[in-house]
Amino acid sequence: MNRNAGLSILRIFLATIALLIFQGNTTKIKSGVVVNPLKWESLQTIGEEGVVGERVNLWRNNRFWFIGESGYLIDGFEKRPGVHPWQGEHLGKWLHAGVIAYKITGNEKIKKAMDEMVKRVLATQRADGYIGTYADEYTFMVVPESTDPKSIADDIEASERKKLVETGKNIRGGWDTWTFRYNIYGLLTYEELFPNEKIVEACKKMADLLIEVYGVDKYDLTKYGTRKGISATTVLESIVMLYQRTGEKKYLDFAKEIVEMSENNPDLRLMGTMLENKSVVHPGEGKGYQLMSNLIGYFRLYQVTDNEKYLRTVVNAWDDIQRNHILVTGGPWSQKEEYNGNSECFAYTDDFNPEKSHVEGCCDATWIQLCTQLFELTGDAKYYNEAEITLLNSVYGHQEIEGKEWCYYIAPNSTKPYYQEKFHCCGSSEPRALEIYSDHFAGSFEGHLSVNTLAPSTVALSDHFGGGIIQIKGDFPKGSVTNIVLGNKKTKYFTLEFRVPAYTSFNGVKVNGKSVDAKINNRGFVEIDKEWSKGDVVAIDMEFKLVATVQPGKNGQKWIAFNYGPLALAQKSNAENFKVEPFTNVEFVWYETNKAVKMLKPAQSSVSNIAFYIENSDVTLIPFYLTGSRTSGPKTYFKCN
Ligand SMILES: [Zn+2]
Repeated sequence: MNRNAGLSILRIFLATIALLIFQGNTTKIKSGVVVNPLKWESLQTIGEEGVVGERVNLWRNNRFWFIGESGYLIDGFEKRPGVHPWQGEHLGKWLHAGVIAYKITGNEKIKKAMDEMVKRVLATQRADGYIGTYADEYTFMVVPESTDPKSIADDIEASERKKLVETGKNIRGGWDTWTFRYNIYGLLTYEELFPNEKIVEACKKMADLLIEVYGVDKYDLTKYGTRKGISATTVLESIVMLYQRTGEKKYLDFAKEIVEMSENNPDLRLMGTMLENKSVVHPGEGKGYQLMSNLIGYFRLYQVTDNEKYLRTVVNAWDDIQRNHILVTGGPWSQKEEYNGNSECFAYTDDFNPEKSHVEGCCDATWIQLCTQLFELTGDAKYYNEAEITLLNSVYGHQEIEGKEWCYYIAPNSTKPYYQEKFHCCGSSEPRALEIYSDHFAGSFEGHLSVNTLAPSTVALSDHFGGGIIQIKGDFPKGSVTNIVLGNKKTKYFTLEFRVPAYTSFNGVKVNGKSVDAKINNRGFVEIDKEWSKGDVVAIDMEFKLVATVQPGKNGQKWIAFNYGPLALAQKSNAENFKVEPFTNVEFVWYETNKAVKMLKPAQSSVSNIAFYIENSDVTLIPFYLTGSRTSGPKTYFKCN
C-alpha cells in the first residue's frame, strides 16, 4: 500500500468517527426537545477537488490562520474595550467555519487552534455572564437602548465619527448584543462536535444576562443598535439553539419574547410583513444581512415549535428575495435609496443600477444559510440551486485567489473588486458559505442516497448505503462532465438521486455503460433504483444552457445578463474599457431574450475554457468569478433597448 492510500484510509476512518460523533449529537437531542426534523441529512464529506476544492482550501490554508493567529480575534475580549464596535463577531464566525473545516479535513491543527481560542474566550466571562468587547460603561446592560443616535456606530457620517474619535467621545456602541449572538452561535456549534458542559454553562450565563435586561417588562431589544433593532434581534437564532441544546423553557420563552418585541415595533415587524406577503424592503429598513439572519432564527423557531407561521414567514421572504433581490450571480443586492437606510439595504427591483447596487459578502453567506435550511427541510432542489449559484459566482467573486483577502462589496458592473486583508464582517462570513457547501455534497433523504452537488468530491457512505465511499468525478463547474462512482463495501438496493444544476439540460444517464430509465422526482432530483455494488459508474449526460435574464432598472432602463448553467457570465473589464459603450451594431431588445442568447457565440479565452463573444462586438464573456483581479472587474449587465 502506498503512503497516499494509507493516508486516505486513515482519513476515511477519522471521518467515520467524526460522523458518528457528529450525527450522535444532532439526531439525539440530549434535552428531549422535539425538533421538527430536517429530512435531508448530510453524509460525511471526506474531500473536495477541482475549483470547489481549490477555493475552500484557500480559506483553510490561509485566511483561517490569518484570523486565528491574529490577536484581533481575542484581544477585544481579553483587554476591553476592543477597537471596533463589532469586533466581537469574528470569533463566533471563525469557530462556525472552523468546526466544519475540521469535520471534513480532520486537521488536528485546526482543532487545536479552536480549542485554545474557546478556552481563552471562556476565561474572559465576568461573574454576571458578560463576554464582550465593550468598556464597562458602554455594555448593553448599562446602555440597553440606543436613545442617542450618535452613540450607535454605523448610523453617523464618517466625518462626524472622525470628529468623535479625535475628541475621545466615540463610544462606538450598539453592537454589544450582536457579539453575544455570535458568541453563543460559535460556541454551541463547536460544542456540538466537542461536547463540553462548561461551554453550555457559559452560553446559559450569557443568555440569562440578555433575559435580565430584555426579558418580559424590561428594556426593548428593538431599541438597541441600528436599523430599528434588526441587528439586535438576530440573537433569536442563538437563543433557539440554546433551547435546543438545554431544553430549558426560559430560552424558548425569551425567543418568543424577541419575536413579540419585533412585531410590536412597526418599523421592524418582520414576521407580520412577510405573512402579509409584502416586500423585504421595509422591515428594519431592509437591511439585507440582518434581515436574513433574523429569518434563519425564525426557521429554527419553527423547528422547535412546529408553528407554521414561523415557517411561512421564512418561505414568503425567501420567495420575495429570490424573485426581486438576487442578481444573476446569486448575490443578494442592495443599494442606497431615499426610502431605505444605507447601501446595505434591499431596494426595490426597478431601482436597480448595476454600478450602484452591490452585494455585501455577508448577504451571500446568510442567503446560502437560508437556502440550505429550506433545502434540508424539504429536499427541494430549487433551494440548493440558488445556494450553488451564489457560491460559484458571488462568493468566489468576493474571494481573492492568491491568498487571504476578501471583498466587502462587489458591484455587478465594476472595474475592480476591492480586496482587503484586514478583518471585516464579510471576510469572516463568506468562508462559512464555502464550508456549508462542502458539508452538503451528498446526504440521505428518506432512504435515498442524495447526491446534491456534482463538484468532484469524496463522501463517506453510511451503513444504510453499504458503507464505504462514493466519489463524484468530473470537471464541474468548469464543465458538465460527471460520473458518480460507487465504492460501497456491501452491495445494497436503494434509490440513488442526484441534482442537476440550475440552467442545465438533463439528456440521460448510463449505469455501467448502459442507458437506464431515470425519472425526475417532484423535488427536482433524478432518481435511479437499483442494487448498487462497488465499482458501479453512473455517467450523467447533461449540458449547461445559455440563458438570458432581463432585470428592470432605474428610470425604466432594462438590463440583460447571461448564465451558462449555474455560472453567471461577465466581461472582464477595466478602467479603460468600462465606460466605452461596448456595442456599435448590437442591440439587445429586452423582450427578445431568445434572440439575445443566439447572439452569443463560442470563443477562445486564455482565462477560461468557457467563453462566448457577442456577435458583431469586441465583448467576450467568461464566468463572472474569473473576471476579478487587482486590475479588472466584472461587467455583468448590459443595457437593453
Ligand atoms: Zn459584511
